[in-house]
Amino acid sequence: EHSVTVIGAGLAGSEAAWQLAERGVKVELFEMRPVKTTPAHKTDQFAELVCSNSLRGAGIENAVGLLKEEMRRLGSLIMSAADHNAVPAGGALAVDRELFSSEITKRLSGHPNVCIHRQEVEKIPDGLTVVASGPLTSDCLAEAIQRLTGEEALSFYDAAAPIVTLESIDLNKAFWASRYDKGDADYLNCPMTREEYELFHKALTEAEMADVQGFEQGKVFEGCLPVEVMAKRGPQTLTFGPLKPVGLVDPRTGKKSFAVVQLRKENQTGTLFNLVGFQTHLKWGEQKRVFSLIPGLDKAEFVRYGVMHRNTFLNAPKVLKADFSLRNNPDLFFAGQMTGVEGYVESAASGLLAGLNAWRRLQRQSTLVFPPETTLGGLARHLEGSPSQSFQPMNINFGLLPPLAVRIKDKRLKNTKISERALESLQEFCGREGVSRQPCS
Ligand code: FAD
Repeated sequence: EHSVTVIGAGLAGSEAAWQLAERGVKVELFEMRPVKTTPAHKTDQFAELVCSNSLRGAGIENAVGLLKEEMRRLGSLIMSAADHNAVPAGGALAVDRELFSSEITKRLSGHPNVCIHRQEVEKIPDGLTVVASGPLTSDCLAEAIQRLTGEEALSFYDAAAPIVTLESIDLNKAFWASRYDKGDADYLNCPMTREEYELFHKALTEAEMADVQGFEQGKVFEGCLPVEVMAKRGPQTLTFGPLKPVGLVDPRTGKKSFAVVQLRKENQTGTLFNLVGFQTHLKWGEQKRVFSLIPGLDKAEFVRYGVMHRNTFLNAPKVLKADFSLRNNPDLFFAGQMTGVEGYVESAASGLLAGLNAWRRLQRQSTLVFPPETTLGGLARHLEGSPSQSFQPMNINFGLLPPLAVRIKDKRLKNTKISERALESLQEFCGREGVSRQPCS
């Protein structure tokens, strides 16, 4: 009787299951991989990162850095595994994706309160449930959800960047540096002259795209635009976007280049690198031909090509409450990308909140919505409170939090103050509501 079903052991489902299990609740955790897989997942591991290996900004002067810190304070499994398996990435928190997922899989599998079922869930079960089946929810379940919510689930396409081996990069051309020398020299940078850039830009805009069924140009999420779509917007769009040369001086010439392609460590051992901002849906052969025009990548070995995928999410303001339960069924919680949050960290955060609230429901306690000053609160309140006609998935940002009472000009200082306010508010709220705050070791 006193168990909760969690559907999907991705970023959100793994976190939700952990929050419940750690509070002494029996969890029935259903994950369909490897029996059935999605177009983006490659492994049978939990919390697989399907694209970039970065959980974005590390410091609390970043909204996503603050969200991570709030999660740590609530005993997040995802944050604990991320911190254990971090790879150097300047001011960002990036992880070795294999070690990260493997730790999460092991800790959940070994938990006495978690029972794992490797099978596809085709309909919504009875009883307390957290649905965390992600942007690539299997068709049967997506239809079941649609029948239940009476809502047309929206869908659009996201894009993923290619990965190359370090040994295939020409280090006589590429150089190590972080933008503005922030952190260690964690990125490999491929500098381009104007001529090299123009050649590359022309090839990129003329390259052949892969067929993507049902792909609608207008529905690509702006934050994850394919590099070729960005290139087509204008000859200089890339040099103001992912190829911007600012803050990167080529040590060999002592000068800023016309454009720079950055590569970020993909694994802890540093043998693999991804092309930052190069989400793409070009045909694989075309990716090799065009990206090999980048100086330093002339002989690059591609271990994974960029791909594009479906993304399914609910019209949250219409169907969800800020505690992540369904408006017309308080025992049914949703978490992760399907709730209309965007990003790994945001997905995990919503899993944490849905898990915590499912536990509260089981205890017959009122569910919790965190204070608006916190990112956990800001994210949840945005889902419930934004206009449903134009609802779009959203990364966490300081715009979702109330402004400070005093005006501070310096942005970094202002953001740090907002974060300090958030952490104080979190501590006070957790004390008042009796939410345990042990960090997850
Ligand atoms: P997932 O992590 O996908 O977990 C859902 C789980 O449910 C999966 O393991 C799946 O196998 C399982 N499942 C699905 N249906 C069923 C079923 N019927 N029964 C049982 N199990 C089921 N975010 C970023 O921050 N950075 C990125 O670089 C990034 N790139 C992305 C690239 C792609 C191609 C996509 C699709 C999304 C990307 N996202 C990215 C967005 C988002 O952060 C991730 O998709 C994230 O994994 C979402 O977490 P989740 O827990 O909601 O879903």
